[in-house]
Amino acid sequence: MKLENNDLEKIIAITREAALAADLPFIFLAIKKEDTPHFEIVFMLPDRLKLVKEKAFLSSVNPFVGRVYEGQGAAFADDPHEGLKNILGRDDIEGLAHELRAKSAGLCPIIVEKNVQGMLLFLAKDNLPRTLKTVESFAKQVASLFTIREFQRLAHDANARSRSMIESSQNLFFTIDTVSSQVKVSPRLEEMTGYTQSEFLQSMNSPDQYVVKDDLQKARDFYRDAFGGKKTEAEFRMIRKDGNQVWFNIISNPIFDSNGKLVAIQGIGKDVSEHKKATWELEKTREREQLKTEFMSVISHELRTPLTPIQGYTDMLLSGGAGPLTNEQKESLTIIKKQSKRLLNLIDSVLDITKVEYGKRIEIKKEPVSLNAIIEEVIDGMNFQFKEKEIKPEVELSPEIETILADEAKTTRVLSNLLGNALKFTPKKGRIGIRTAKVAADAQVEVWDSGVGIENEHLANIFEKFYQVDSSYTRTVGGIGMGLAIVKDIVEGHGGKVWAESGGLGKGTKFIFTLPLS
Ligand code: ADP
Repeated sequence: MKLENNDLEKIIAITREAALAADLPFIFLAIKKEDTPHFEIVFMLPDRLKLVKEKAFLSSVNPFVGRVYEGQGAAFADDPHEGLKNILGRDDIEGLAHELRAKSAGLCPIIVEKNVQGMLLFLAKDNLPRTLKTVESFAKQVASLFTIREFQRLAHDANARSRSMIESSQNLFFTIDTVSSQVKVSPRLEEMTGYTQSEFLQSMNSPDQYVVKDDLQKARDFYRDAFGGKKTEAEFRMIRKDGNQVWFNIISNPIFDSNGKLVAIQGIGKDVSEHKKATWELEKTREREQLKTEFMSVISHELRTPLTPIQGYTDMLLSGGAGPLTNEQKESLTIIKKQSKRLLNLIDSVLDITKVEYGKRIEIKKEPVSLNAIIEEVIDGMNFQFKEKEIKPEVELSPEIETILADEAKTTRVLSNLLGNALKFTPKKGRIGIRTAKVAADAQVEVWDSGVGIENEHLANIFEKFYQVDSSYTRTVGGIGMGLAIVKDIVEGHGGKVWAESGGLGKGTKFIFTLPLS
């Protein structure tokens, strides 16, 4: 078994269960320190016994501990005072056993690959060998989880971890003695259900009384398996005393005596309502998202369908297929052609938005295209907006770049998003420019403006979905904060990079992206 982060917690949970199962007033778990005869205490119940905790450790030099250490099995002392004194090798804990009304003390080895790697020291309220048997069965459970190397690592990690964290466990622990039918539940029960222990034990005889009807079968199956001696787990809703429901996760472990007879059931319960609620909400959101995506893609498809014949017939008319055209007719048809292409692009961007929104990559179909032609076309398409803002775009195209291997429609979208933003965030009579350069094996494109600028703290975030710098300016120009997320997705899909630079508020912004030349 692989060592996991929560292995120590697992051991501690088992120790805690041991305490509950055997009704122990005191137990501690000690793990062997590598290359020393000492065992360090990593967990103690109850935790308030500072007296023992401070400086306490077990040493195999001590004869009582030594015997257990050498593999002679668990040791049991009928006199708890003497037992503790012997085990811990200390005289100053006289009052402890008395205070805890202990009648005996025991020390149980945790044997991993024939070596004693840990010990459970406990005080018991009785001196029945059965108590020792129960503790032993827990020690075996612990041992079966690990190899020696893992155990040594645990010992090393143990002290570094906070014990109080484990102490403040949110879990509920319970033990049911199947022989005497006695039930013990940790105090967490009251917080979880609203019932005190005695209220719960007196009136809640069967799950019908506290489990939500729809989950009754699950609860009944759980109890059947648990009392049948199976290790089992279930999740069901419980009705609290105040009438509210809590989602309850419950795990049960059977405990058998040396003859294989089931003597106890011990387990852990957790309130998983928050987790359930979050999962449920996530599922609902996913369903909704999926519906929306499906809806969008159906709509986009439906909108695309009539556009294909419109474009086809326009091309046919333009090429004189239905007779010669006057110049005016040609001009009108050219406008129809341009605008239907724009419409197609818009529909595709809606599809892309849904894709990026749901974490899917936009598909990139690369072919040799002229970057300059794309830039000119985009600027051309925005002529009207430039005029409205009284801005003349400043274009500097590198003669070094001719064709690049890129997806034409998507590259168009990148440029129109960036130029669209530049127009949006630059006031009238400002400046907007576009510049290209060959940098190493990339074409680098800069879209710059003299507009409102972006504060440093926002620069890294603006490419996130739905991120908008909250300013009165952003609010007046509108948008949904998807444009740059799409830009990033497309550029990265091409194997390029995109980033933004700005001198700060009012100092303009520059967006730079690269596209591999080939
Ligand atoms: P939208 O424009 O729909 O809000 P974008 O993803 O395109 O979404 O942009 C995200 C945010 O980045 C914008 O809301 C704005 O705050 C900021 N931004 C983008 N481009 C510029 C720019 N040229 N100048 C200033 N801020 C910009």
